[in-house]
Amino acid sequence: MKIGFVGLGIMGKPMAINLVKAGHEVFGYDFNQAAIDALVEAGGQGVSSGREAAEKSELVIIMLPNSPHVESALFSENGIAEGLSEGQTVVDMSSISPVASKKFAERLAEQGVNFLDAPVSGGEPGAIEGSIAVMVGGDKEVFDKYYDTLMVMASSVTLVGEVGAGNITKLANQMIVAINIAAISEAYSLAKKADVDPSSVYQAIRTGLAGSKVMEQKSQKIFDGNFDPGFRIELHIKDLQNALDTSKELNVSSPFTALSMEILQSLKAHGHDKEDHSAIARYYELINNQKLQ
Ligand code: NAD
Repeated sequence: MKIGFVGLGIMGKPMAINLVKAGHEVFGYDFNQAAIDALVEAGGQGVSSGREAAEKSELVIIMLPNSPHVESALFSENGIAEGLSEGQTVVDMSSISPVASKKFAERLAEQGVNFLDAPVSGGEPGAIEGSIAVMVGGDKEVFDKYYDTLMVMASSVTLVGEVGAGNITKLANQMIVAINIAAISEAYSLAKKADVDPSSVYQAIRTGLAGSKVMEQKSQKIFDGNFDPGFRIELHIKDLQNALDTSKELNVSSPFTALSMEILQSLKAHGHDKEDHSAIARYYELINNQKLQ
């Protein structure tokens, strides 16, 4: 299949390369020429605009940071929408506001273009291995048509509802992860103050009810004070902002998300926004005046 791919960053580049490896003809575009060159080296083709990516393809995949980037890639001059015609499909795999997803779907529908919002979890390793989890919102017919193509990049691709439902699911994921990292950091801080080794606490409770994937993947980073990303705090701030905006829009109260956001903002103010989100533990080190290592 001819596939346009706009956004060849940490996630998009390996995802596009996996499509090339599966035999698809991939037309990649990014502001960053080095990212296009890397795709071409892997057997893809470079194009000079979103418009050209759309003109050459049946399906256009987008993988950009946030809603304004997607809006600009779609609707600015020489953007994707200018190259689209009736019957084509856009799959936006960026983690953005579900409200924005719906708006984009409506605008593209005026051109007879299908739209799925399909954010992912699994991070860079998952994108490289082709094992990301994809949560999709949109029409079942369109979902069924492109399921196999999306599975090339993923270990699971799940339809969760109408357009916007994919990003609601992603926001739920990001709320749970942030609150969870804060919860384990808070508990390890108490243990440390009581002179009980936090890593012993972890070993003792990890298989019980308090255990979680977050606990498994983030505890050792916290004990080592190794906050290399991983998933950067600045991206998690973006996701929680979208979660809080959506909560407001839907008149829902999300107090723990708001609290987690304040923790992340404080870490940003201290210059830690490029670190892994497990650096939430640093906040507890600061307020309790004790190291967790
Ligand atoms: P990134 O910053 O590494 O890549 C974004 C790319 O988009 C960059 O190469 C940039 O040059 C390009 N770009 C920006 N605006 C553009 C435009 N208008 N036209 C063309 N190119 C443009 O980001 P990433 O880490 O790949 O994340 C992409 C999305 O995936 C985000 O929404 C993020 O939240 C989500 N995500 C990231 C991870 C992760 O671990 N990095 C995990 C899951 C989901």
